[in-house]
Amino acid sequence: MLIVMDKKATQEQIDAVIAAIQQRGFTARPIPGGERMSIGILNNKGHVDGSSFLGLPGVKDAIHVTRPYKLVSREFKPEDTVVQVGDVSVGSSNLTIIAGPCAVESEYQALTIAEHVRRSGAHLFRGGAFKPRTSPYSFQGLGEKGLKILAKVRREIGMPVVTEVMDLEKIDLVAEYADVIQIGTRNMQNFSLLRRAGKASKPVLLKRGMAATIDEWLMAAEYIMEGGNSQVILCERGVRTFVHHSRNTLDLSAVSVVIKESHLPIIVDPSHAAGQRDQVIPLARAAVAVGAHGLMVEVHHAPEEALSDGAQSLYPDQFEKMCRQVQSIYNDLREGEGPEDR
Ligand code: PEP
Ligand code: MN
Repeated sequence: MLIVMDKKATQEQIDAVIAAIQQRGFTARPIPGGERMSIGILNNKGHVDGSSFLGLPGVKDAIHVTRPYKLVSREFKPEDTVVQVGDVSVGSSNLTIIAGPCAVESEYQALTIAEHVRRSGAHLFRGGAFKPRTSPYSFQGLGEKGLKILAKVRREIGMPVVTEVMDLEKIDLVAEYADVIQIGTRNMQNFSLLRRAGKASKPVLLKRGMAATIDEWLMAAEYIMEGGNSQVILCERGVRTFVHHSRNTLDLSAVSVVIKESHLPIIVDPSHAAGQRDQVIPLARAAVAVGAHGLMVEVHHAPEEALSDGAQSLYPDQFEKMCRQVQSIYNDLREGEGPEDR
């Protein structure tokens, strides 16, 4: 249940509602909105009688939340969430481009690619220091050395960095260096990791599990938010189907469903969906056309030498072209339209 306070409700009235919720043995979660405060009721086992709150001073409405995910749902918070990463705003009417190599391979590689993508208009730099690889014999990432290189990219190129955490053990280390902590497709239902990410002080980019339904994905985001971290960015990266022409099948319909169901920003990763460079730009254009709040794209200055995912990495000039095209699609969409038209 969501208790919606009147626009003119005082702090005392808000505190009194919180106390009334706690008195009944529930958890109260204040959700500040643009115009008014709402207070979510969590940890109720069954039906909550809304009428008992309606009589309290300053209460405007009591709304039953019908979705299993509460904190992530639009029912709970109608306004778009904007996740702030340094100077970069992710979500709502912003189009955020995250770009970089699959893995951080060397200082030279990371700085070279970062310089290219920044010039083309990327806002955040991506690069894995800990890589979840199918084979134990494949390049596993540079580990902490990779994180240090990312810190150098931030310092020298001036871009915030996104990097993946694979396990609980490393989350503090990754959070120390990263501006955004990525949780990958293989960990989307690693509930201990999700809970721990809920305690992190950095935003979390949560990729969709390769076989996850939208409900499962949103419930995974709920774990992070329930832990206290409301800075969550969702990322559609394709799901596994029977096709062979691409690595995964990009589920673009998920974007509009998520925008309807949740206030969280949703971006699209066409690289891991496609698996092949020639499919990346068309999918990126489609993702922006369908209303995604951003893109995460793999780029490499010498993809034929990349230690991972070279086949799907764009050359810098292709990335530049992609940026121009998606920006123009985005501008056309925005012309004279409000966010409700997304
Ligand atoms: C990645 O973005 O580096 C990655 C491993 O992606 P995913 O978890 O979507 O496979
Ligand atoms: Mn990759």
